[in-house]
Amino acid sequence: MPSGADRAKVLSFEDARQVVEEQASHLRPQGKELLELLDSLGRTLAEPVFADRNSPPFPRATRDGYAVRAADVTALPAILQVIGEIRAGSEASLKLEAGQAAAIMTGAPVPRGADAVVMVEYTSRTGDRVEISKGISAGDNIVPAGAEAKRAERLLSPGSLLDYAAIAVASSVGRSRLLVYAKPRVAIVATGDEIVDIDVPPAPHQIRNSNSYSLAAQIQATGGDPMLLPIARDDPERLRELIADGFEADLLLLTGGVSMGKYDLVEQVLAEFPAEFFFTGAQIQPGRPVVFGRVAGASSPPEPKYFFGLPGNPVSTMVTFELFARPLLEALAGMQPRKLIFLHARLKSEIKTKPGLKRFLPAQLSGEFENAEVELIRWQGSGDIAAAARANCYLVIPPDRGQIAAGEWVSLLMR
Ligand code: AMP
Ligand code: MG
Repeated sequence: MPSGADRAKVLSFEDARQVVEEQASHLRPQGKELLELLDSLGRTLAEPVFADRNSPPFPRATRDGYAVRAADVTALPAILQVIGEIRAGSEASLKLEAGQAAAIMTGAPVPRGADAVVMVEYTSRTGDRVEISKGISAGDNIVPAGAEAKRAERLLSPGSLLDYAAIAVASSVGRSRLLVYAKPRVAIVATGDEIVDIDVPPAPHQIRNSNSYSLAAQIQATGGDPMLLPIARDDPERLRELIADGFEADLLLLTGGVSMGKYDLVEQVLAEFPAEFFFTGAQIQPGRPVVFGRVAGASSPPEPKYFFGLPGNPVSTMVTFELFARPLLEALAGMQPRKLIFLHARLKSEIKTKPGLKRFLPAQLSGEFENAEVELIRWQGSGDIAAAARANCYLVIPPDRGQIAAGEWVSLLMR
């Protein structure tokens, strides 16, 4: 077994993220279930969804006005004979001959013989005559049948996240139930002699276990099923038992006990399993001591079980979940891999910091419409849960910047 020093593998943020994405790319979800359409919101689709007919099923008018033959509207003004009215929901029974027009509403089927719709704004109607004052080309203001989707075309693929737009697609093709991937089970083990359950009155020297709950919330929001295991004392025996229990799940998250202190035992106990460590630190703040690795699974054929040792400071736990644990969990939930994308906003007030680490600091995005601006939340460091709750994003500070002026564009990670 390698010694502690041999195990030390501290990567840049980007390299650490890359390692997680690469491991995640080999993971597959564990099962499937059929759900009612609305119950599938936020889950991952496990089957393709096909168009059951052309969309639109008929050539659709996209404006209120008159269906015409473009060739009749070359000399202006053009006077045409109105032969009827077509509303959304009308059956397409009319047929236009040369010199004719039909009043038509948005969403209605364009009649045979017509090849364009003139907007009502460019027309004036007297009895059964309409005068058209603006020229038009064939195809204007019409979506041809099948232009959005052809019958049997694949509209959603396995691995798609079922958000409201995907739910709209499924409903539009008449799917009231969808096959989704089973939720991965994620075990959570909080560690620390000072940590107590939230339903126990804490002694003055004790700290309530908030990390298991913030993690459970993040897991749920990512489509996983959290399993809260008992709090592990800083004792190798007990830790070993709980870690072994945790490996029954699809993924194990530990919090605390990964720093350099005498009672930070998580890495040591994992190493004895034995575990393979991909990294034991990342050049970030908060969250520098984050650990990622795997053990050989007990199943046959053996599927490796992955774990993260997340630092115990509550904001570090939250941030390292978002940066590293989330892509692995998404892969176990069957989602197509996504890259981490930072948005940009203007900095509201100057930042001074020590270069060297990539920082993800609690921040508040405000402003309105195109004028987004972001500023750091005042905080007491990565133990400051109350500050984290006042933030709505993380401001990303590159490791080479010691000072950033107000008004500069900065990167941020939305929460
Ligand atoms: P550690 O990473 O174990 O050195 O813990 C770092 C800091 O985070 C200490 O102040 C701990 O009390 C605190 N902490 C560790 N685990 C938890 C937890 N589960 N809930 C809240 N705070 C924690
Ligand atoms: Mg601890």
